[in-house]
Amino acid sequence: MRDKFEREINYLRVSITDRCNLHCTYCRPKEGISLQGHDDILRYEEIIRIVSVAVKMGLIKVRITGGEPLVRRGFIDFIVALKKISGLQDISLTTNGILLEEFAQNIFNAGISRINVSLDSLNKDKYFHITNGGNLEAVLRGINKAEKVGFSPIKINTVAIKGFNDDEVLDFAELAFTKPFQVRFIELMPMGQANSDHSEDYLPAAQLMQKITSRYKLEKVAGKNNQAAGPATIFKIKGGRGEIGFINPVSGHFCATCNRLRLTADGKLLSCLLKEDEFDLKKALRENYSDEELARRVREAILSKPKQHDLACTQEHLKKCHRNMSTIGG
Ligand code: SAM
Repeated sequence: MRDKFEREINYLRVSITDRCNLHCTYCRPKEGISLQGHDDILRYEEIIRIVSVAVKMGLIKVRITGGEPLVRRGFIDFIVALKKISGLQDISLTTNGILLEEFAQNIFNAGISRINVSLDSLNKDKYFHITNGGNLEAVLRGINKAEKVGFSPIKINTVAIKGFNDDEVLDFAELAFTKPFQVRFIELMPMGQANSDHSEDYLPAAQLMQKITSRYKLEKVAGKNNQAAGPATIFKIKGGRGEIGFINPVSGHFCATCNRLRLTADGKLLSCLLKEDEFDLKKALRENYSDEELARRVREAILSKPKQHDLACTQEHLKKCHRNMSTIGG
């Protein structure tokens, strides 16, 4: 699956629900977002059909996300069904970790061994505040359980927020020093809720890096800022067990190596996080499109991928994007 710019598109992020058990202040509106009804979101069989069609076209990698994927009933059976799709080489999961302790073993047994956990603070009260009521202890227990069960790698995704967690950068680095985790700092993208409530809170990755290198020596991991590794630039902490990564969607976009499509819970295929065009696969499925017709839709989405965000990912462009990440899945 090559797009117009000769990029190989082989990765699909699938949001299986728009519901979440947290309400992070930069991700979802306080008053809650209109939650879609049962019929509005894709049934698991429908997702499996889309993935099967895309795998025949060259898809090799799926990441399950949300909302919060662990709140959707039946997701373990869904993973088992995904695993049966021949040709699909890699399935991973992104979670906020609240329910991870309960589900880690079953997720692992179902065949997922790579997991990303979102965690923006290591301070109980701050975590409670940013997530609108989340329990940090539950997440930490979940991460420990994932480690015991054998997940590898375990990636901790931390959105850097000025005035909120900039004083915790070294604590997160310490976590990567003492544990075999990859802690990745992600620049806050001013889209949706982040654009209204956190418009002044963007922190460039370079500042975080400066702080970290004041205490730790970072060694760039060769080959870990390429398409296969995703958009993060990864460093080993000298003498430590884990790694530190930086994902810079604002200060340095990574469109040239973008290999992904996104499927929303309500069946819209998106060719770019920041492009408003959507390809309605739910409608196609429910109007009994053949596999060939579905494949044509997928191809259309791929061919619509822009070379890069319209304005090379300037803040002005990002601000035009009104979607919240909770509806797309990150
Ligand atoms: N519930 C799951 C979780 O917490 O990982 C999956 C969905 S969540 C929307 C995916 C990721 O998007 C989280 O790491 C979250 O912090 C991140 N995110 C949400 N809004 C963002 C923004 N404006 N800029 C950068 N990352 C954002």
